[in-house]
Amino acid sequence: AKAPKLRRIALMGSRAVGKSSMVIQFVENVFVDSYFPTIERAFTKPLTFHGQEYEVEIIDTAGQDEFSIFNGKHALDMHGYVLVYSVTSKLSFDMISVIRDKILNFTGTDWVPIVIVGNKADLQNQRQVTKEEGEELAARWKCLACETSAKTNHNIGRTFEMMIAEIEKSTDIPEDK
Ligand code: GDP
Repeated sequence: AKAPKLRRIALMGSRAVGKSSMVIQFVENVFVDSYFPTIERAFTKPLTFHGQEYEVEIIDTAGQDEFSIFNGKHALDMHGYVLVYSVTSKLSFDMISVIRDKILNFTGTDWVPIVIVGNKADLQNQRQVTKEEGEELAARWKCLACETSAKTNHNIGRTFEMMIAEIEKSTDIPEDK
């Protein structure tokens, strides 16, 4: 059998939008309310998508704000980026634009594989960002968007499948040759 393709994905976004909860739900199939990481962690999970096996490595970053120093290794070492905001926080939605600018600055390109994710979609009555706003941003950036809930496990697996699909659109991945 062919060896699985390794794909490195960074999960970025403001603090407390649910990045860790998403990755724990994806890798361990649980929602841990009290999980509180302060440092960066890496997780791996095998994933089969369109008949191809992947080893997905997910870097759960500590979280960003407009003042964080962007870690250049995230920009250069990743195949794709999941930019997470909370649908309950307009501020966190605005932050993903700041993060994308920093990524594009570091990579010196105008497109990288991105999936933008509105998490905490279960908190309908606290919503500050509409689904349409997420979709409009994705259309402008020519990337994919989806809404998730790490709590109810809504669209979590799908998010990472969408990320793999976006990565496969970029043709030049040297280690596959
Ligand atoms: P991170 O800092 O972005 O990694 O965020 P965490 O994963 O630590 O989550 C921050 C808080 O939001 C925690 O109290 C989580 O339990 C909660 N949380 C995360 N995802 C969801 C979700 O989809 N729905 C709800 N209701 N709460 C969530």
